[in-house]
Amino acid sequence: MQDYQHILNEIYTTLKKVKTKGEVARYIPELAKMNPDHLGIHLRLITGESFSTGDTNIPFSIQSISKVFSLAKAFQLMGNKLWKRIGVEPSGNPFNHMSLLEQENGIPRNPLINSGAIVIADILLSHLKNPKDDFINFVRELTHDDTIDFNETIALSEKRTGYNNYAAAYLLKSFGNLENDVEDVLDFYFHQCSIMMNCAQLTNAFVVFANRGRCIHNKKHLSLHKVKRINAIMLTCGFYDEAGEFAFEVGLPGKSGVGGGIVALLPHYYVISTWSPPLNKKGNSYLGMKALELFTEKTELTIF
Ligand code: GLN
Repeated sequence: MQDYQHILNEIYTTLKKVKTKGEVARYIPELAKMNPDHLGIHLRLITGESFSTGDTNIPFSIQSISKVFSLAKAFQLMGNKLWKRIGVEPSGNPFNHMSLLEQENGIPRNPLINSGAIVIADILLSHLKNPKDDFINFVRELTHDDTIDFNETIALSEKRTGYNNYAAAYLLKSFGNLENDVEDVLDFYFHQCSIMMNCAQLTNAFVVFANRGRCIHNKKHLSLHKVKRINAIMLTCGFYDEAGEFAFEVGLPGKSGVGGGIVALLPHYYVISTWSPPLNKKGNSYLGMKALELFTEKTELTIF
């Protein structure tokens, strides 16, 4: 077996020396308060061994990473009927872009851009009895950790300033692609984005996508049919208009969030999460991308 701990330590030391790192997200006021110096990397092999370096036990706002959990839940509930309301093509645009949505009659390109995730939030609102409770319990179940929760302050902070998401939701509503009220859908969406998790928890939760639908306790949550499709969407759409670059440099399906987290996986082998708040111009963690590039270069463990 490779010396994973040594590899993670080396990456950490290299990245700690990098000077230009990008900027912490400021458009959600609560996120602007994050300390830009945090850096954590957590790896878990499918066989169960874990390796950690840096700030892997400090929870952060998972933001868009939550879109993978909501997609998984909606796919579980609706099956392939989901694809009548959302596409599966990369957008080639930023996560909050709207012009394609108008051109394509309110059918979002994919479930990982904001408009797509808002449609998924609407579906969960229609199908779950107690939407927020049921959703957080799903995330807790995948992670095997009951301490995971929403961050009300962050959810409220985004609600106050989330004009772009309001615009997307009203556009979706005008095209008839939202069943519920815009306010209710966005309340759910802002809450799902506010979920706090640390790198170790995120890694554990994503084992379900690397292990053919089985979580860390080997319980089956998703069929391979669904896992295959969710991983394909992460590979092609998980980093917005930088998905090509991520596949090119890192070579893994994954998902980023504006809280600075990234989680990526090699099916049947491992899940790895990184956290560093400063983002590059495309909204992905600058050092997180670098860490994952170094990891797959050093270990030669990529899907390609
Ligand atoms: N809540 C954020 C938003 O809607 C999520 C964006 C992200 O993490 N890329 O803008």
